[in-house]
Amino acid sequence: GSEYESVSPQEKILVTVRLRPLNDRETARNDVSDWECINDNAVIYRNTLGERYNYPTAYTFDRVFQGHCTTRQVYEEAAKSVALSVVSGINSSIFAYGQTSSGKTYTMTGITAYTVADIFQYIKRHEERAFVLKFSATEIYNEAVRDLLSKDSSPLRLLDDPEKGTIVEKLTEETLRDWNHLKQLLSVCEAQRQIGETLLNEASSRSHQILRLTIESSALEFLGKDNSSTLSASVNFVDLAGSERASQALSAGTRLKEGCHINRSLLTLGTVIRKLSKGRNAHVPYRDSKLTRILQPSLGGNARTAIICTISPAQSHVEQTRNTLLFASCAK
Ligand code: ADP
Ligand code: MG
Repeated sequence: GSEYESVSPQEKILVTVRLRPLNDRETARNDVSDWECINDNAVIYRNTLGERYNYPTAYTFDRVFQGHCTTRQVYEEAAKSVALSVVSGINSSIFAYGQTSSGKTYTMTGITAYTVADIFQYIKRHEERAFVLKFSATEIYNEAVRDLLSKDSSPLRLLDDPEKGTIVEKLTEETLRDWNHLKQLLSVCEAQRQIGETLLNEASSRSHQILRLTIESSALEFLGKDNSSTLSASVNFVDLAGSERASQALSAGTRLKEGCHINRSLLTLGTVIRKLSKGRNAHVPYRDSKLTRILQPSLGGNARTAIICTISPAQSHVEQTRNTLLFASCAK
């Protein structure tokens, strides 16, 4: 028996908000903090300018985290239960959503490390099973999928596999040996991402990064006899493109079309999340973008999903913060 097997089916997407502290650059230009978490569930706009706004000034969620909360705390309460359902054979996805510089990468980097550490511990405690951990990493930029573990940066095709669903053709999948191996792979990803950044202007704010950890396990007593006790599932850590792309497009009333600078994957993800949060009967347009195609097995159905929306407290970012909170409200 495992301590995570009893996870009840998740009916809703776990939606949380993380407010980061003002940074040095913001402080230096006399920007002020306009948002405040008044308790564990509500974030409010303090309206220091004394202006009137036609939108709500208080937003409530399952959990909100204020500036001095640690990533460990965010992990424990906003991601852990969803991420670790993977050891029970349940697919999951953890997203960081928010404008550029709001703390997505900061948050996801820590959460990925804490999850993997907990998974290694779990494996140690369960000697009655044999585990194989596999790791892959992709980046989606302008609807082109790249392998972050390969030096070859040419776009990869998505294929429909009758059993596995959508798979990324020729994607590198490393069998994870230990903690150091993971660190080494993450630095390869980071280097590949930076190569992309110098080639493509502002790539990191426009691209999505998906780190995928797949866990296969089987009970040792059945090993080699049958595969009835084999479990396999993936957890995806998704560091999304800056949400300013989607909201700019939406506020301009622009239609989604090929060739314009709108992030198709981010917009489609928004639609998919809204449909999933409204109920099971709606048609969910997974196939409309690369991101949602790749993540389809880990979204909806039996899968579990957590979205951590990161926001800046700065007055100068108030419109983007509001857009992120509206997205978060629609997702819950
Ligand atoms: P994004 O990925 O959304 O563009 P980053 O994660 O790169 O944003 O964060 C921007 C900067 O703010 C980084 O220097 C990061 O270290 C810092 N930062 C983000 N969130 C926090 C936080 N909660 N506490 C302290 N520093 C943070
Ligand atoms: Mg980032």
